[in-house]
Amino acid sequence: MSALVTPLGGSLVDRRIPQAEVAEAAQRAEGLPAVELSPSEAADLELIADGAYSPISGFLTRGDYESVVDRAELAGGTPWTLPITLTVTEQQAAELKQGQEVALRDAEGGLCGLLTVGEVFRRDVEREAGEVYRTTDDAHPGVRAMRTGGPLLVGGEVRVLPAQAGALALTPAQTRKAIAERDWTTVVAFQTRNPVHRAHEYLTKVALEQVDGLLLHPLVGATKDDDIPAPVRMRCYDVLLRNYYPAHRVLLATFPAAMRYAGPREAVYHGLVRRNYGCTHFIIGRDAAGVGNYYGTYDAQLLYDELGGAERLGYTAFKFEHTFWCNACESMASARTCPHDREQHVMLSGTAVRKLLSDGGEVPHTFTRPEVAEVLRQAYSKPAGEALV
Ligand SMILES: [Zn+2]
Repeated sequence: MSALVTPLGGSLVDRRIPQAEVAEAAQRAEGLPAVELSPSEAADLELIADGAYSPISGFLTRGDYESVVDRAELAGGTPWTLPITLTVTEQQAAELKQGQEVALRDAEGGLCGLLTVGEVFRRDVEREAGEVYRTTDDAHPGVRAMRTGGPLLVGGEVRVLPAQAGALALTPAQTRKAIAERDWTTVVAFQTRNPVHRAHEYLTKVALEQVDGLLLHPLVGATKDDDIPAPVRMRCYDVLLRNYYPAHRVLLATFPAAMRYAGPREAVYHGLVRRNYGCTHFIIGRDAAGVGNYYGTYDAQLLYDELGGAERLGYTAFKFEHTFWCNACESMASARTCPHDREQHVMLSGTAVRKLLSDGGEVPHTFTRPEVAEVLRQAYSKPAGEALV
């Protein structure tokens, strides 16, 4: 275990309430004011609880919040690129007092955890949008979500109920254990919210030529409505790994975060969090974690360098250009390796693939493996109501 990369801050945070104390905590929560968590905030709470956000141990208070927004680091200087915040209503903001406990509840009223109020403060929505999302455009889903949540935040340490473990959900500690058991010293993480098509397979395999293992870590928290649902994606990963990867070199586990679509800031955060899961390397491709046309193709790779690269962030980025199948090369390629014209390259947009699938057309094997295409075809041919968008 000791050979693995250290978590940010030196050790994994654990904010879970021990099983023996759950009944008492639940009873106490009955008498406390409640704050309802959005799906994204609930995902953050889970990630804090298991140490994926180490050294963060609660929702950010003002000093950390402003430092993250302005300088992409916590107040103590630890690199961190996304503000982890909890919104409250005007009325709650007026009533909550420092040191008081509040119950954190999901939309159905279920208890998720407890927060000790450190500070109630106002976020600078315009500044945060400009610095974190690089746009104040309401059409950006992350900016829109922030405006909807409103400007009032409560920060403070949290204690969180035990997780309901999913079959493929591994905590950072469990992931580190799995890595140690496999005797891997170098591990590359691949963040994805899409089926793994040939281009992604190529990136992960080029990376695997140089490191001991691959953590395929699909994000399964909230995404845009037009992203492919997690259960369908999981079936795609399953058939791909079974047919095209050596089992002893790959670990598949879910990453419970929600997407913010903050592009460069989010891509660097994705790598920092994977360091906490025990990964030494992280793939940063083109248009990482972005949406629309808000970010330059390689902005995430540039931000990684600007923030100090491996030396400061503690993980090595494998940077990739746009990759594709080239009919003339008869292989996967990129502008770095292929001299041929664009007519030789198989490139399909997500929209084009969705159209092919819903029209019953064949997705070329040079774009996606037939087993993956079959999973997608079945998902897309379901009757309306169940269909993917
Ligand atoms: Zn070529």
